[in-house]
Amino acid sequence: MTKRYGLVTALDRLTLRVEPGEIVGLVGHNGAGKTTLVEIISGLVRPDSGTVLITGHPPKQARGLVGIAPQNLALYPSITVHEHLELYGRLAGLRRRALSAAIDDLALGLGLTEILDRSTGVLSGGQQRRTQAAAALLNRPPVLVLDEPTAGADLSTRQAMLDLIKQRAGEGAAVLYTTHYLPELTDLDASIAVIRQGSVVARGNYDELVGGLPGEVVLHYEDGSARRVTTHDPASELITMLSASERPVTGVDVNHATLDDLYQALAVGHVA
Ligand code: ATP
Repeated sequence: MTKRYGLVTALDRLTLRVEPGEIVGLVGHNGAGKTTLVEIISGLVRPDSGTVLITGHPPKQARGLVGIAPQNLALYPSITVHEHLELYGRLAGLRRRALSAAIDDLALGLGLTEILDRSTGVLSGGQQRRTQAAAALLNRPPVLVLDEPTAGADLSTRQAMLDLIKQRAGEGAAVLYTTHYLPELTDLDASIAVIRQGSVVARGNYDELVGGLPGEVVLHYEDGSARRVTTHDPASELITMLSASERPVTGVDVNHATLDDLYQALAVGHVA
């Protein structure tokens, strides 16, 4: 698909396929075109050329088949979390008992049980994002499009969200998942599509694209100084550095490759 906004080409002959049961992690810098793609899949924006098919249907005929958690929150601030989920569940065609069971199930999975009776407008950013993701997952759609659903989430919420998404893919859902944070994609067992200037410039699994990139080991010392080493094998480097250190170490960081590292490696041709 191609989509232009005036002089800006947001999507440039982008091609992407997500199979049932597959999680594709769509990664790219700000402005790469991720949200534009999500908006086209939602049927909110039309491409200038090309098409998107959701289980064979154009977006407008596929409303109940795709669960979308957009990046910009779309919550009604004056209604409660429960009312919000009820509304979305009904729109997705769920009836009373199935709807109530789906809400209970998701509230438990995403830690929303305690806040079901709160207005969405007074929730924290992370709670709002979880509520929005729950709305997308309610009717167990065969296709999920989740635009940075873990942004602003704390560690346990992030893990709960990733577990749930993996479970849905295990049940056969095709999942398109955008993130800026590469380590999430190992947790999700996702394949990766790197988007740059509106095109998919690399596609592969985590090991193929990120596994070969070096990480960084950092030792922190009492006086506030630090020693940093870039390495392909952080675990053994850490042991070597610790045993060779002549001063007491007060802290250790192991930093994995970032999206910047991946972009750079792609630019210089270190990964295909
Ligand atoms: P981010 O990671 O910041 O969310 P993104 O990858 O989602 O970025 P998009 O929001 O899809 O990127 O934007 C792609 C390009 O299209 C950007 O240059 C953006 O400024 C432009 N763009 C997106 N929507 C519009 C619009 N409605 N009008 C004009 N330009 C737009």
